[in-house]
Amino acid sequence: MKMNAEIKAELISIGAVDIDPELLGRITIPTAGPGAGGRAFFFKSGRHRVRLVVDGGSPLRAVKDKGDIVLLKGGKELVRGSIEEELIHCPGQAYITMSERCIYDCKFCPVPKLKGKVKSVEEILALVEDANSHGKMEGISITSGVEETPEKEVEKTVAVVKELRKRYDVPIGVSVYPTKDSSRLLKDAGATEVKYNVETMDRGIYEKYCKKPPLELTLRCLEDAVHIFGKNHVFTNFIVGLGESDEIVEKYVEELAKMGVIPNIRAVGVHPLRFGELEAERPTKERLLKLTKMARRILDKYGLDASVSKTMCLPCTGCDLNPHTDL
Ligand code: SF4
Repeated sequence: MKMNAEIKAELISIGAVDIDPELLGRITIPTAGPGAGGRAFFFKSGRHRVRLVVDGGSPLRAVKDKGDIVLLKGGKELVRGSIEEELIHCPGQAYITMSERCIYDCKFCPVPKLKGKVKSVEEILALVEDANSHGKMEGISITSGVEETPEKEVEKTVAVVKELRKRYDVPIGVSVYPTKDSSRLLKDAGATEVKYNVETMDRGIYEKYCKKPPLELTLRCLEDAVHIFGKNHVFTNFIVGLGESDEIVEKYVEELAKMGVIPNIRAVGVHPLRFGELEAERPTKERLLKLTKMARRILDKYGLDASVSKTMCLPCTGCDLNPHTDL
């Protein structure tokens, strides 16, 4: 059976699979975002893709059969497809984390705990060059924690984007913590799209788990970004599973869409480094489908299209249901 939206929702909801490492190709360990530090791979079937964490305790098991990778649930075939190679972090893109550390301490994110590497501009350029020489690079995405201040991080990202733009003619996406003029600076440097993450818009939950500056600042920066980058080129991660109601998600997805921002609805995942620090419940497949259909209806109402994006998570679709390409 090939993957469809229902099966993909179930796979995202479970999030992991028990697989023999020998079946995996060249995989990287993500250094930013909710999956940072974990081992994972991309599973492709039909027109859908999903990223699954490797976990021996998962109710899903992967086996090889007639040249396919088959995912079994309760011993029965759920879906068959193949493993997709990554370029850097995801298929088709060189998606690079600049600073694998962060001065903030958002409770759903492992990056502040990892205290990882801070890459120089030269190191980033070398990684992209290597990716470009190995496969078809359709886009470049740059993300980062905040090593010292948001302003310094934006300044360094601008320098990276300027150098990349001199060398490559592919879309460049940037996801950083925003500043009052980050959109103007990034656009002038040659960036194509930006993502500034609200994480959640339930103010009580934000207060409890997001240990970065107030949400209102990010919202103002998103509004400004739409003026500069245009509709369909400004995104935000919207985590679900932190205790928010569906009504709250709907209300704020509409508020963002009205601004011209496309929310990327992301199922919460609790990284082992964060066990005990947050109460989270991974959404069921029914909830994921319901929220994605709701997002599709709202995006259509405001003339937004999640299939137009060229960089970062919306075209990758590994971790989420894209309201336009997956439904
Ligand atoms: S959807 Fe985003 S976070 Fe997930 S694998 Fe793709 S690029 Fe990475």
